[in-house]
Amino acid sequence: MQHMTARLIDGKALAAEVRAALRPAVTALAARGAQPGLAAIVAGDDPASRVYVRNKVRACEETGVRSELHEFPADVAERALLECVAGLNRDPAVHGILVQLPLPAHLDTERVLAAVSPAKDVDGFHVENLGALLRGAPRFVPCTPAGVLRLLDHAGVPLAGRHAVVIGRSNIVGKPLALLLLQRDATVTICHSKTARLAELARQADVLVAAAGRPRMVGAEMVKPGACVIDVGTSRTADGKLSGDVDFAAASKVAGWITPVPGGVGPMTVAMLVANTVRATELSIA
Ligand code: NAP
Repeated sequence: MQHMTARLIDGKALAAEVRAALRPAVTALAARGAQPGLAAIVAGDDPASRVYVRNKVRACEETGVRSELHEFPADVAERALLECVAGLNRDPAVHGILVQLPLPAHLDTERVLAAVSPAKDVDGFHVENLGALLRGAPRFVPCTPAGVLRLLDHAGVPLAGRHAVVIGRSNIVGKPLALLLLQRDATVTICHSKTARLAELARQADVLVAAAGRPRMVGAEMVKPGACVIDVGTSRTADGKLSGDVDFAAASKVAGWITPVPGGVGPMTVAMLVANTVRATELSIA
């Protein structure tokens, strides 16, 4: 029987380290009379969204960041959400605003995200912040891509001159992550649902990031021996368990490094949100 050869990249442990490392900054802010504050907006009763928001609120509390939750029913009027955002934009005790996605289908996500003050946009989804990221001088890097970079750096995975293949081109994961990898001098290929010969491209990757939301679509035959495999995917399977986009058991026999699901990218996303909230607070009093 072939055993796992890949080194496991432990996102849960690194996320705890990242949060602990934020404490001195939080203490320094307190000495200046500022406690970081995050406001989370969630609409509808999607169980996954509720779990994600609860994890984010808990991570804030553990780090000394004040948090407040604004919950709305699934049929909330867009105007009510926009009024909530406008109030939070004006509130000096709120330094970061998070709109949990996906929003119910009748709402215009782009309009709601655009209403968040760019200075409080700790998810980094506002066009102004995405534009700054594109120019290479980001204010807030979107949390999941930022978390992936931290995982890669922590594991010591070389990026410069390497081929990174990102499966997924969403505005919140695939595209910003591809930009970050490009800024680190990787040669980046972005794949999506219309990509031809996906497996062939994936097999060329030194760093393969799966962010498609397709359970176990990446098998061992798509992984170059020794490559680093980062699994962003989180899908809920019929038995209620979380599944990544990577067939972990198979891929870990070929890869050089691999992240698990759960316990990989997910906790890092949350830690980077807390980090962005602390940074937003520092910028607000600078
Ligand atoms: P999304 O908006 O649905 O985007 C998925 C992307 O994957 C799209 O670009 C899509 O291509 C592409 N895709 C779908 N099926 C594909 C296939 N068979 N082959 C190649 N590409 C395919 O999703 P997202 O918001 O980026 O999230 C992606 C996954 O990451 C989801 O499972 C989500 O739950 C997870 N996620 C995890 C975290 C975390 O913290 N761990 C955070 C955010 C998201 P098209 O553009 O052509 O449709």
